[in-house]
Amino acid sequence: MRAMLLEAAGRPLRAAEIPDPVPGPHEVLLDVRACGVCRTDLHVADGELRDPKLPLVLGHEIVGTVAAAGAEARRFRPGERVGVPWLGWTCGACGPCRAGRENLCERARFTGYQIDGGFAERTAADERFCFRLPSGFDDAHAAPLLCAGLIGHRTLVAAGDPRALGIYGFGAAAHIVTQLARFQGRRVFAFTRPGDVQAQRFALELGAEWAGASDGPAPEPLDAALIFAPVGPLVPAALRAVRPGGTVVCGGIHMSDIPAMPYGALWGERVLRSIANLTRRDGEEFLALAERAGITTTVEPVPLARAGEALERLRRGRVRGAAVLLP
Ligand SMILES: [Zn+2]
Ligand SMILES: [Zn+2]
Repeated sequence: MRAMLLEAAGRPLRAAEIPDPVPGPHEVLLDVRACGVCRTDLHVADGELRDPKLPLVLGHEIVGTVAAAGAEARRFRPGERVGVPWLGWTCGACGPCRAGRENLCERARFTGYQIDGGFAERTAADERFCFRLPSGFDDAHAAPLLCAGLIGHRTLVAAGDPRALGIYGFGAAAHIVTQLARFQGRRVFAFTRPGDVQAQRFALELGAEWAGASDGPAPEPLDAALIFAPVGPLVPAALRAVRPGGTVVCGGIHMSDIPAMPYGALWGERVLRSIANLTRRDGEEFLALAERAGITTTVEPVPLARAGEALERLRRGRVRGAAVLLP
């Protein structure tokens, strides 16, 4: 099969012909139909996330159809469409797993990081961690649901029940979360890179009532803020934007250093927290909600061979919605 391989951090992806993966007992072999490109792929490719499997096939927003199944894999029919997320395997035995927090599993393995992912024509995935996908989304438009949507939703849930919600960084996650928040009756304030008029216009089109630069003040005190951009200085900025008792949630897996800030920025029972990974329950809940809320995703289809260009466009903030690779 054709695959785009990461051979070392910091090196461009290389197009290669490699053998089809052989599914293990609980795995399904999938023909990849679409695979979203996520900011986390960039963090792995750049070496900001340590010790990936190498060589590695990136990609953890995989939509595929079942081509074959391992001996113990009986959950899906041949030809059935499934989604593969970032959480690829958990142990089921450690403290967090037993406490229903498998997102924090001490031995977790992640798709497109420790397990080969979807920047390829085929992939193998543990069927117990795959999802059925809502039928209202075609393959390319379903792909961003699997990380941007899913993690975005978990981030929103962690913010409590805000009426006025700030969103910092208007990429794939934000474009889905904005629709979800509007469906729930929340007011959305979008903060983008200064001067990124296109992203601001996009946010307004999706239902934000205000969009402006992340280095400026919020137009009014916010109840909560979500940070999706991997930019540490946004943390004190978001804390300044929320009212006392407000929550700031960092939704990304990696961020540049957070600058020192006065305690007054946190004082007033403001809460600062992060979101790590996902649970399978998050996925089931979000995918049902996405359909009910009438979420639509905006995607830029990119041929598999141009995965490297898609990563560069993402790095420069040039993608409207999500880039999705098509084999
Ligand atoms: Zn575990
Ligand atoms: Zn992701």
